[in-house]
Amino acid sequence: MPAELNLVFVGPPGAGKGTQAARLVDDFGLPFIATGDILRANVAEGTELGVKAKEYMDRGDLLPDDLVVELIMDRLAQPDSADGFILDGFPRTVPQAEALDAAMQQAGRRLTAVILVEVPDEELIERLSGRRVCSKSGHTFHVKFDPPKHEGVCDVDGSKLIQRDDDQPETIANRLRVYHEQTSPVVSFYDRDNGPSGAILRRVDGSRDPDEVYRHIRALIATVRMEDTL
Ligand code: ADP
Ligand code: ADP
Repeated sequence: MPAELNLVFVGPPGAGKGTQAARLVDDFGLPFIATGDILRANVAEGTELGVKAKEYMDRGDLLPDDLVVELIMDRLAQPDSADGFILDGFPRTVPQAEALDAAMQQAGRRLTAVILVEVPDEELIERLSGRRVCSKSGHTFHVKFDPPKHEGVCDVDGSKLIQRDDDQPETIANRLRVYHEQTSPVVSFYDRDNGPSGAILRRVDGSRDPDEVYRHIRALIATVRMEDTL
């Protein structure tokens, strides 16, 4: 039985990747590596990377591959990722996926599954425009689908809830365009035959309620792990 659980979440902005990944982190105790969170922390601290990242993020464009690849490869090389990890928001382009493949192969590891969370664009627009995040630690809420107990205040740590700059309507439209143009090819990349175990892409209907989506994800992880032992 392989001990490692190396999971990647792919899907359009607002599909619920972060929401689902956070639950898995609680269950499996794996490090959660979300490129968006790491970049936003850099923006907040005003690091050199953060200053560069901000202009791309504010427009809803992707950062250049080399910047993001280096960041994630350094992170995956940390000892806490040795038994597995949950990646959210990376890879977002085919060159990023190729870089991840190469690094995994070099380390004698492989991805357990790539989970594609699918949601129609109209629903994504509603989810993103109503998303509110905790200003301190990124806990996520929704004004309609997952409202906090007290308006504008994070249930978990009492911090102020804010709307992300890139969750404004014009930026949302560009992010969806960027997803369809640049990230959709990543889906085909993982849907191709990957040797004896076949394709590692697993599709999940993310338009259902969060508990149902989660049950589906848990079931598919159980199946993949069982297949691994055969
Ligand atoms: P992503 O990480 O894919 O960008 P999030 O997990 O941040 O997406 O979710 C986007 C927004 O939609 C958040 O406001 C979240 O509360 C809400 N949301 C997440 N999953 C669902 C769901 N299954 N149904 C309705 N709203 C959801
Ligand atoms: P969401 O899941 O809501 O789309 P993220 O928090 O994952 O948003 O990403 C926010 C922004 O950070 C992206 O719009 C992009 O500018 C930048 N970003 C995140 N991940 C990557 C990546 N793998 N490659 C390039 N840019 C990225």
